[in-house]
Amino acid sequence: HSPVDPWPAPDEIASESALRPSALDDFEGQPRVVDQLSLVLQAARHRGSTPDHVLLSGPPGLGKTTLAMIIANEMGVPLHITSGPAIQHAGDLAAILSGLTEGEVLFLDEIHRMSRPAEELLYLAMEDFRVDVVVGKGPGATAIPIEIPPFTLVGATTRAGLLPGPLRDRFGFTAQLDYYDSVDLERIARRSAGKLGITLDAESAAEIARRSRGTPRIANRLLRRVRDYAQVHNAGVVTAELARDALELYEVDPLGLDRLDRAVLDAICRRFGGGPVGLSTLAISVAEETETIEEVAEPFLVRLGFMMRTPRGRIATPAGWAHLGMVPPTQEPA
Ligand code: ATP
Repeated sequence: HSPVDPWPAPDEIASESALRPSALDDFEGQPRVVDQLSLVLQAARHRGSTPDHVLLSGPPGLGKTTLAMIIANEMGVPLHITSGPAIQHAGDLAAILSGLTEGEVLFLDEIHRMSRPAEELLYLAMEDFRVDVVVGKGPGATAIPIEIPPFTLVGATTRAGLLPGPLRDRFGFTAQLDYYDSVDLERIARRSAGKLGITLDAESAAEIARRSRGTPRIANRLLRRVRDYAQVHNAGVVTAELARDALELYEVDPLGLDRLDRAVLDAICRRFGGGPVGLSTLAISVAEETETIEEVAEPFLVRLGFMMRTPRGRIATPAGWAHLGMVPPTQEPA
């Protein structure tokens, strides 16, 4: 598990929840989403009703689960957490829905990975707070409607475009979470440092923020690694130098590239003259699976503008060459 992986490591759940903000006021960044959501919650409180269903989309680690928890907290209601892949059959969802208490928030992560029949059951539940339970099979089957208490569905997906239109349309409020800028990430690192009982100086917070790939989960993880390093080295205050040393030890470079990202970029430039090179050749040359290259290393290198995917293969950009401290070979004019 790389320190800059956007997905959580299995043993990270407890340390992540300890750093979660529990109120909207403590949620850093995403000002537009926070303002809009605040309005939705205030209006619901004013009317004494449950807030509209909320759809959150965006890459992993940007705070979708955190926002679902905040919604439940702010409304003073319980939260039930489940995910699309955990719901195999419509019956699984019917059981969850009929067990909800009035006003409860249901967080459905990876909502785009739910089965078709479950999705259809969800339409009705979202709209009419009702589920139809089918009893019997074949021509004699009958649907028995069961009323469920009003609830708020908070759906999360990495890409809203993956959701069928009818499902998307049933959300009253939709928000797209974007990568965070360094100022927000510095604030997140400092706030988390306070919770961990360590002090960051201004520059060390910037060092962590710069390497966090716009992702709070990564900022918090890098901070925990820096904390370990500081404790072992008996440092009272974390300085920029200490943060740099710690992150170098974990092979995270100043822009947040890890060992694999650099290996991919290095292979394109050094071994294949800057490309174009095919994905499978690239994978063999860095001894990795093609999926890992495609899903983990490439998106970030493309986001940084260090490489491009073209129909003929992957190529390094001048910025990619520059990051390795090299100049692209000059091409002879034809
Ligand atoms: P996934 O889709 O992978 O579950 P997610 O989008 O649900 O990711 P969270 O689990 O909510 O992400 O956030 C990951 C970590 O980052 C948590 O520890 C959370 O406290 C922290 N975090 C996320 N967003 C913010 C924020 N805006 N302010 C402070 N901390 C944040």
